[in-house]
Amino acid sequence: MTRRLAVAAAGLLLAVFPLVVSNQADQNIVILSLVLAAGAVAVNIMGGYAGYYSFGEAVPFGVGAYTVAVLAEHAGGSPFLWLPVAALASGGYALFVGAVAVRGRGHAFVVLTMVALLLVQFVATQWQDLTGGPAGLPLPTLGWDRDFQNWPFHYALLALLAGALLLSARLRRTRLGMGLLAIREDEDKAATIGIGTHAYKIVGFVLSAMLLGLDGGIYAYYAGFVDPVDTFSLVLSGQLLLAVLLGGAGTRYGPVLGAFLLELIDYYGNQTFGGGNARLFIVGGLMVVVVLFLPTGLLPSARAWLRARRARGTASAVGRRLADVEPGGGALVVRARRAEPDAREPLLRVEGLRRSFGGLRAVDGCSFEVPHGSITGLIGPNGSGKTTTFNLIGGTMRADAGHVWLSGECIDGLPPWTRAHRGLGRTFQLTRSFARLTVLENVVAPYSPHAVTSADRAEELLDFVGLHGFRDQPCGSLSYGQRKLVELAQVLMLDPTLVLLDEPAGGINPRLVERIAGLILALNQRGITFLIVEHNMPFILELSDRVLVLARGSCLASGTPAEIQRDPLVRDAYLGDELTGQGHPRP
Ligand code: ADP
Ligand code: MG
Repeated sequence: MTRRLAVAAAGLLLAVFPLVVSNQADQNIVILSLVLAAGAVAVNIMGGYAGYYSFGEAVPFGVGAYTVAVLAEHAGGSPFLWLPVAALASGGYALFVGAVAVRGRGHAFVVLTMVALLLVQFVATQWQDLTGGPAGLPLPTLGWDRDFQNWPFHYALLALLAGALLLSARLRRTRLGMGLLAIREDEDKAATIGIGTHAYKIVGFVLSAMLLGLDGGIYAYYAGFVDPVDTFSLVLSGQLLLAVLLGGAGTRYGPVLGAFLLELIDYYGNQTFGGGNARLFIVGGLMVVVVLFLPTGLLPSARAWLRARRARGTASAVGRRLADVEPGGGALVVRARRAEPDAREPLLRVEGLRRSFGGLRAVDGCSFEVPHGSITGLIGPNGSGKTTTFNLIGGTMRADAGHVWLSGECIDGLPPWTRAHRGLGRTFQLTRSFARLTVLENVVAPYSPHAVTSADRAEELLDFVGLHGFRDQPCGSLSYGQRKLVELAQVLMLDPTLVLLDEPAGGINPRLVERIAGLILALNQRGITFLIVEHNMPFILELSDRVLVLARGSCLASGTPAEIQRDPLVRDAYLGDELTGQGHPRP
């Protein structure tokens, strides 16, 4: 409520500002702030949502600026009319560069986009006929009365800012927005729940660039000229980035707040220190301060402080966390897509899988099958390659050799999200739910073109795993075992035929272990096949129809739980006496 009031007040203030304040220097500060704010909201889409920060954001901005300048120079007409072309040009740039840069993560992405900036700057400097070379290009002047000449720019930018804010707020609630947030939290995990990460990042990059192109186009007209060095500048990239980080990355209004503050700081800094290199120093210094002392930005810090103050004295959330979590019940309709009834083929067939890390053969000629409708256990000592085998089946890791068939189809070379779309779900040994998203958002995030991945379905699944009461809490505040249940619900969202569980009972309390066993049985009865890695022997021997034993990266034995317990080879390699009831657990 207070936020709405504050936003409405700020909007009103900006709407009447040029009408009330006629001083052109003051109008100039607000216009520059709006330029930075609209740009920062755009940068927030890739940076704040997807976690992809770059130092190349000045490029789409500059491409927009140059597009408007070049077209006004060579084709004539009002620069405002060329703005849609500016957006398309910047979007085109992002599509081209994004297709390459988005494959690099973290530092690689930063470096690639920075190289792109220098390349584009070089082209703008060299291509004299089109761009005017190092001297740049002038833009036509707006023939309005001097008293009102800032108005069109002010209102165009205000409209752009409002549009960008609206878009990014809507985006937050779309599949694309959820996907970008999931990528920020954990990109590999996102890929395993069906999110086509490359495509999502490219679309986010293009959207962000189109907004920046519009912003740059309006700015160029306002500034009256473009030149390569000031347009494609690292300082501008830095300012855009800093505005986002200062205000609060990933928040709706943080980038706007950051932009206005930064512009003020920049303005008074220039006045005091005479501009030039002082700006570099201010942007760089402030960035260090923000990253070190205000890592979440102003708005989230303020929010956290307010929440902490309010929470003092009231009962903490811990009581709730410890409260009993009961499964919602058996009403869940599982729509396991029954695989094509090809009786000759098992649901999963793995043949001769190999994967080495340096000299270590983690998976070494591993072959096995998982029959339709089974609960198959996969056991083996620590380091025998169980998790790596899961990674190879799920596609988060490439095999050096070998093949994987799902329902008779070879899935080698398919990306993780396509495997997820084909009905393959997996959870991770160390749970990888998205800590900063709510429990409900975590379960809404997965995507499959073949499954109903709606919010209603997510609530149904949360109810099924017994976590409905936690739907609006950030997932990071849940216990380890509860996060395992969230991961299970995420996987179920894909309507999987085969679910790989990596130590579902590891490190959680016994009551929750029983709960998970119950859920697995219930889901299996509804047609879902399981392959389960687990060290808890009573758990796995009780649940499984068949057990596979892995040792040093290959499948040593397979059979019913009873057969496995009797197998002397297996007992030697792994089980020991404790499991056959003939000895005592080692102290
Ligand atoms: P398990 O799940 O059966 O305990 P893992 O598949 O995790 O075994 O590991 C098998 C072996 O491969 C271990 O020796 C482990 O240290 C090694 N290993 C696993 N992942 C990597 C990696 N990403 N880089 C290097 N070594 C790895
Ligand atoms: Mg493991």
